[in-house]
Amino acid sequence: MKHALVLAMLLLSVRTFAATPLPETDLAYDIVAGLTTEVGPRLAGTEAEARGRQWAVAKLQALGFSHVRIENFTVPTWIRGDERASVVAPYEQRLAITALGRSGATPATGTTAAVIGFASLDDLKSAPDAAVRDKIVYVSHAMRATQDGSSYEYFAPARLFAPAVAAQKGARAILVRSLGPDDSRHPHTGATHWSGGVAPIPAAALSNSDADNLERMLARSRVPVQLHLLLTPRSVGMRQSGNVIAEVPGTDPSAGLIAIGGHLDSWDLGTGALDDGAGVAIATAAAATLLSGDRPRDKPRRTVRLIWWGAEEMEPFGGRAYFGAHAREPHAVVAEADMGADRVWLLRAKFSASAAPVAKRLATALAPLGIGADVAPASEGEDIAEFLKAGVSSVALMQDLTRYFNYHHTADDTLNRVDPQQLRQCVSAWSAMLEIVANAPENLLVGGH
Ligand SMILES: [Zn+2]
Repeated sequence: MKHALVLAMLLLSVRTFAATPLPETDLAYDIVAGLTTEVGPRLAGTEAEARGRQWAVAKLQALGFSHVRIENFTVPTWIRGDERASVVAPYEQRLAITALGRSGATPATGTTAAVIGFASLDDLKSAPDAAVRDKIVYVSHAMRATQDGSSYEYFAPARLFAPAVAAQKGARAILVRSLGPDDSRHPHTGATHWSGGVAPIPAAALSNSDADNLERMLARSRVPVQLHLLLTPRSVGMRQSGNVIAEVPGTDPSAGLIAIGGHLDSWDLGTGALDDGAGVAIATAAAATLLSGDRPRDKPRRTVRLIWWGAEEMEPFGGRAYFGAHAREPHAVVAEADMGADRVWLLRAKFSASAAPVAKRLATALAPLGIGADVAPASEGEDIAEFLKAGVSSVALMQDLTRYFNYHHTADDTLNRVDPQQLRQCVSAWSAMLEIVANAPENLLVGGH
């Protein structure tokens, strides 16, 4: 009786362990701590991003990955300069701003103009050109925190497109309310798109605290609010970037390969801990569990290719370079970790009908980690977007994004935002996922690749 009970408990614990393999070390935390401490911010095309690639190569080789290499490409490179803004009339005070990626520059002495405010991008669009011409435009929005990050997608057009709209209407410059739900004084940078033929104007994000303040000024003042703005970023032409690639070799080349990763580059204000140091760390730590080390285990059926994509933040240049070079290889499943360091809460998977049982096994393996399953919608990841368009099977382990956008693209994206316990849960989820997709007996290549 007693023996039977012990045996039952043993079986139960073995089963639980098999379903949710735990990382043996805090490798992921070690990677994100190392990258943010020894390299720091890694703006695409800069010498800092190049140091990041060297750091990655050394780390991946030391961990025992195979075929560690850098695949170079070039990217149009933009570098931040000085950035200052002050209200000069009627309520003199400094505002916390930061240039948006690819912003134009003011004269070296700055520029002073009246501010015209809009509650939304749509309001700016419908304003007559004459009302905007030669003014400094301010655009607000009402982003709120959402667990799935959908609020970011919804409100991002204010940052992505308002600068081009303002430029078309002849604005002198533009400030956009920071794209984050936080109430901090740290502005959020991020790319903006200058549509064909529009010459970039100075474009910056205003911290949410200062956006509130500016809105109060616009509401109270009976005279035009005058603002002095200095932004001196520069576009420095094509510079080298690259993808760092490493592999866990599989035993069955005909089964296709699993491509996973995150992006190595980051914005320059923080140290790129959440975006996307945590992502490369999660993917790497999960892939490392498939390496035969001191705990020998069978090689996976499929080769797992780990990619630290370069130059994602402005546009997914690294993802496109990888697709250009490797699209002809048989990709069975693609997945990207680019959602910070908080826990995985939802599985999204897209498989062909014949591989549907794989999605089911994934849902079962992830359930003990507190992860729900929604196995119909498309997956996520800027760097794998071309594969998704091509119909390659994909997995998205949706992380909790409630907190993420408070720090996203700010000076506050630093290591202390990484919660080691939640990071460990992410690695457990990714390890369980990789174990299944790398070894699934089904044909995962149906659907074009
Ligand atoms: Zn990112």
